[in-house]
Amino acid sequence: MKYVVCVPDGAADEPVGELGGQTPLEAAAMPTVAALAARGEVGRAATIPAGFPPGSDVGNLSILGYDPARYHTGRAPIEAAAMGLHLQPDQVAYRCNLVTVSPDGTMADFAGGHPSTEAAAEVVAALDAELGGDGLEFHSGVQYRHILVAPAARADADCTPPHDLTGKPAVLPRGPSAGFLTQLMDASRAVLARFPDLAATQIWLWGQGRQPTIPSFRDTYGLDARLVSAVDLVRGLGALARIPVVTVEGATGWYDTNYEGKRDACLQALADGADLFLIHVEASDEAGHAGDVAAKVEALENWDRRILGPLVDGLDGLGPWRLLLLPDHPTSLRTRTHTSDPVPYLLVDSAEDGPGGAYNEAAVAGRPSLPGHELMGRLTGRTPTSA
Ligand SMILES: [Zn+2]
Repeated sequence: MKYVVCVPDGAADEPVGELGGQTPLEAAAMPTVAALAARGEVGRAATIPAGFPPGSDVGNLSILGYDPARYHTGRAPIEAAAMGLHLQPDQVAYRCNLVTVSPDGTMADFAGGHPSTEAAAEVVAALDAELGGDGLEFHSGVQYRHILVAPAARADADCTPPHDLTGKPAVLPRGPSAGFLTQLMDASRAVLARFPDLAATQIWLWGQGRQPTIPSFRDTYGLDARLVSAVDLVRGLGALARIPVVTVEGATGWYDTNYEGKRDACLQALADGADLFLIHVEASDEAGHAGDVAAKVEALENWDRRILGPLVDGLDGLGPWRLLLLPDHPTSLRTRTHTSDPVPYLLVDSAEDGPGGAYNEAAVAGRPSLPGHELMGRLTGRTPTSA
């Protein structure tokens, strides 16, 4: 049996006026999804447990079959894992954005003007030289996204994600480690001032957590899995669950990503002996954040035409298969941000027909919502050993 998990990031949504009151999932032409839904099982899944921030880290951890309530320690350690960092038990990782704060204290840009990765690496090296030491290490990542490793004693603080502050007063951390964090963010201004070509004015620390102890996917589900994603958070989850991450040329995390390449990587890995493959595509989430209705619909139609149609044909050639499709969380075109609402899921077995239905938000609105992390067990027919 081969298993495929399809994750159109942020695909679920609310009815949209421009789409005549339909959601993107209703409005998009998705004939393959419709055919699969008609012979499969549709339902509702809570990928974001109550009390958790509706992020891709939490949602994709659920989809991989791990209960966030048990395994999620924060967003930064997952990104740190994607960068190849392994935290010691006495360390905490903070996400360290390069941000632009206006002189009046407004968060003007949580992405610091999107510096190039190369330019940002120079800044992070300077931060490490001047503010590092004494257990503090700055590690450079991609563009504005970096990591600070600090002693675990500095972990206790309530920090606001900078993308939630855009155009608003920059809210400083609260709690026992607030003074330490505020001092460090203040001290970073003098370092950033030496890079006048960059729009970023300082660092912003948030999303902290200790190293999560996630048992390997193989130990948990007894299956050999692979995944493809252009997004650090998903790649980091792969690293933590010891799921090898397949690299696909042209996988950009943007609208123009290589849909066919991801599909073919999936079929190739399964043909080569992998049991399960997860395909993650970020485009629908980016369109949601941009408030771009047409781009979100097109991203879903790309899933159907460029991945799912040929994928199903390819899977039929490999033998019996089961497929699970669901987003990690909704991303609202109206508010341009994530929500915690349950998402519709679709589960299909190549040999056994389900009750059938339609795959969209309204069609499953009355259903009870299953904990998202239980779907992996339903897909694979296996009881996880520890998740
Ligand atoms: Zn997401």
